[in-house]
Formats: sequence, structure tokens, C-alpha cells
Amino acid sequence: MEVYQGKSVFGGIAMGRLSVYHKTDNAVKRTKITDIEAEKKRFEDAKEEAKRQLGVFYEKAVREVGEVNAAIFEMHQMMLDDLDYVESITNMIETQQVNAEFAVASTGDNFAQMFAAMDDDYMRERAADVKDISNRVISILQGNGDAGLSGDEPFILLADDLAPSETVQLDKSKVLAFVTRHGSTNSHTAILARTMNIPALIGVDFPEEGVDGQFGIVDGFDAKFFVEPDEDTKAEYRKLKEENEQKKRLLQELKGKENITRDGTKINLYANIGGVSDVANVLANDAGGIGLFRSEFLYLESEDYPTEEAQFAAYKTVAENMAGKKVIIRTLDIGADKQIDYFGLDREDNPALGYRAVRICLNRPEIFKTQLRALLRASMFGNISIMVPMIASVWEVKKVKEIMEEVKTELSTEGLPYKEVEFGVMIETPAAVMIADDLAKEVDFFSIGTNDLTQYTLAIDRQNAKLDRFYDSHHPAVLKMIQMVIDSAHEEGIWAGICGELGADLTLTETFVKMGIDELSVSPAMVLPVRNKIINA
Ligand code: PEP
Ligand code: MG
Repeated sequence: MEVYQGKSVFGGIAMGRLSVYHKTDNAVKRTKITDIEAEKKRFEDAKEEAKRQLGVFYEKAVREVGEVNAAIFEMHQMMLDDLDYVESITNMIETQQVNAEFAVASTGDNFAQMFAAMDDDYMRERAADVKDISNRVISILQGNGDAGLSGDEPFILLADDLAPSETVQLDKSKVLAFVTRHGSTNSHTAILARTMNIPALIGVDFPEEGVDGQFGIVDGFDAKFFVEPDEDTKAEYRKLKEENEQKKRLLQELKGKENITRDGTKINLYANIGGVSDVANVLANDAGGIGLFRSEFLYLESEDYPTEEAQFAAYKTVAENMAGKKVIIRTLDIGADKQIDYFGLDREDNPALGYRAVRICLNRPEIFKTQLRALLRASMFGNISIMVPMIASVWEVKKVKEIMEEVKTELSTEGLPYKEVEFGVMIETPAAVMIADDLAKEVDFFSIGTNDLTQYTLAIDRQNAKLDRFYDSHHPAVLKMIQMVIDSAHEEGIWAGICGELGADLTLTETFVKMGIDELSVSPAMVLPVRNKIINA
């Protein structure tokens, strides 16, 4: 038995025959041609055929994984018509008198290298897309069909990497899991795999030889991959698989159902995310929107301040993938437990009571403005709301609104479009609770951060494990505060939700409903369990 560790892209357990996928070899030779017009026509015809094939994939993907996730194939169709790309190929055919295959291969390589060198994750990932479309055109020019991605019995697919067009060609009913050596958690393939709801691991260094046709187990929970497991391991995983499927079956029945209590009260049930790659999980769990996007993870994952473009690409992708559903993005919440070297923050005696979140944003408006510009620009691509953490005073909210107005004026002057977005604050300091009536006049919604609210109300450091028994988020003080916030919101005609961990506490769902809560935002895996509670409340 061999065990390999990888990185999980989607949970679940799969057991079955291993099938190693090798891409068809598109080795291209350079040949000199004499009839330039005929060669250009060969390229045009192959390009049209590639677009036709992508159209078929698009239709298949729409049926299997929905319009938003299928959009990659429409994008590939558009890339094939990109003027620079097409011109580069036809120019090469004309000026160098080379065969179409060679012109496509070398243009594809050049464009891919150009994308790969860009200082932007989103653009870097486009390198794989341009390679994918070029390989498709070359295959057609060479008279090759699509690479064989099928089998008669179900199998676990092993590959170096998979392009989106290869993923979607798969007969879903046959593929039990994906295991790849490369690929990023943000790649389209990863998103498709998650949406297809099958376990997937990336970064697994499986051997070149000897695994094809062997028996394997993929553990998407612990990111482990077993080749030829022993009988005990097989028995253990058979049991885990059955338990997992049982749980999923029960919860799946709740998909598509509304979050309505027995007496007809409707609650908005959203999910919390830390980055673009979590969106598929939000959709897979049927959340009605995103109630908290912790944007500071974009900063934590970077080596330097993320640029406006990098942030714009991330917010836009999330908004687009959520296809019109609400996406509440929290502005930078750095400091306290989330330290970043490049911010150059001083060491503090009491970091939780220190320089963090909106306090940093108000002191360093240049950082804040970059984020607001990216958020407002991305608002054009979906239903984005902006929410500010750690508010303690009305003047802070007024100042944030002032900065937001400045940013809007700048964008308008530059001719960059944006939408009017819903604007809210997190209620996570006792001060904010006590002035919730005044705050409610300034904003469109409240989202209660019970993690910090408990910490600041009970004067207990949430990071200190020794104080766990005193950190009681069911404390009457916390629950009374939640009620006060909901009441103040409703008096001003705005909505109130909870995005802290307490929102997913199933023992309190009924209490929150009785208190009049309008929204709960929980981790994606908790959406269906909370829905279950609401329906039965
Ligand atoms: C909270 O404080 O409850 C919250 C949702 O924010 P974070 O946990 O990121 O501080
Ligand atoms: Mg907080």
C-alpha cells in the first residue's frame, strides 16, 4: 500500500480503479507552405470547428454545472476570435510562410508566456486557457479527435493537470474523483470539480509508472490518496463512505427549499467565505448569497499590498459566480490576530484593543481607497454590498461614507462605472450595540460579529485557550445585545443579521428566529443543517 498527501479541492471519499490520463501529443513540426491563402483558410476552418466544439461543451456544462460555471467555454470561444491572437497567427502564416499548426502553436506559447509573467493571479491563470484553445485548434488541424477521457466502468482520474475543456468532456457518471499533480485551488478545473460534487485532490506526487489500472482510495477530507490499500484500510473507508453518503442524502433533500419557519417567517441564509475558491462550496450548499467575504485573506495571501486590479478581479469573479445573489464584502479587517509584515504595524500590548480594521483604514486612506475602488468597480458584475468591521462610533461611519463619496467622484471623473451598493456595518463592539439606534440612521444593514462581540462584552481574549470556559457566547449579556441590535435596526426599517460563529449554533436557531433576525451567515457546510433547523422552528 502506498499513501500520498495532497491538497483537497473538494471533500468526499471515492474508491475504485485508477486511470491515468495522458494528453494527446500535439507535437508540431514547422513546414514551409506555398499557398498562403489556402493555409489561412485551413486555420479559419479549424478555428470555427473549435468554436463549434466549445459550443457543445458549453451546452453540456450548462446542464451539468450551471450557466455561471459553464461560462469558461464562452470565454474560450471569445479568445479564439481575439484580434491580437488571430492577427499574430495569420501574420506568421503570411510573413514566414509557415504551416497553420506551427503558427498556432507558437502564438499560443507566446501569449501563454505573456500571461504567465503578469503580476496578477487572475491573468496568470489565463495562460492555461490560451494553451487549451491553441491545442484544440492544433488537434483539429492535425485531424485528431478529442483525447480519450472515457471508460466503461467508473474510475478515479489521475492526471498531471486538467484543462476545463477536458474536465467537462468527462462522463460524470463514470468519474469517481480527480487526483492531479498540478493545478491551483482557484483554477476553473477546481471550481468545476467542486461543483460536480466529486472528491478532488491537487498537488499529489503519484508515480509515473505502475498505477494505471490499480485500485485506489481518494480521501478528500484528509487530502490522502491510497494506491492498492490493504484490507483494513479498505474496510475503514467503506464505512466512512457509507456514513458520509447517508449524511449527504439527508441534507440534499433540503436543497432548493426556502428557509421558512412553520409560522411563515423567512430568513435569509447566506455563507461566509475567505476567498474566491470558496464560492463553489457556497453554491454546492445552496446558500442564498454570501453574508461575509473576509477580504483580508486577499491581503494575507499576498507578499505586498494587493493591487486594485488583483482585488477587482477577485471581487468580480465572486460576484459573477454568485450570478446576482447578494455578496457582502467586508472591508479590510487586519490587526489583532491577523498580522501582516508589510503593513509594518508596531507591536502592541493589547492588540485586540489596538490598531485594527477600520481604524487602520481611516488612518491610511490610500490603502482603503484602493480597496473601495476595486469593490465599486466590481459592483458592475453582480450584487455586491460593502460592510465595515469594528465600528464603535458614528463619526467613523460618517468618515467612511465621506471617503466612499470621494472614491465615487474619482471613478466618475475617470469614466469608470460603478453601481450604488448597499452599505452596512458590523456590530461587534458593545459601543456599537449601545448606539445602534444612531448607527441605523447611517446604514442599510447591520451584521452582528458575535465572535468579537462576545470577546469585547465579556472582556475575554478570544485567542486565549485558557479562557475557553469563560468565553460564553450564550451569555445573557450577548443575547440581550443581539436583541437590542435587531430592534434598533427594525425601528429604522433596516435589516439585521449575524455573521459570527454563533449564527451556526443550531441550539440557538429558534431563539434567533424569535428575536426577529433577518439573516444568518454561516460556513458553507452549515447552510443545510441551519436550514433544517429553520424549517422545523
Ligand atoms: C466576528 O467577529 O464575529 C466576525 C464575524 O469577524 P471575525 O471573526 O473575522 O473577526
Ligand atoms: Mg470580528
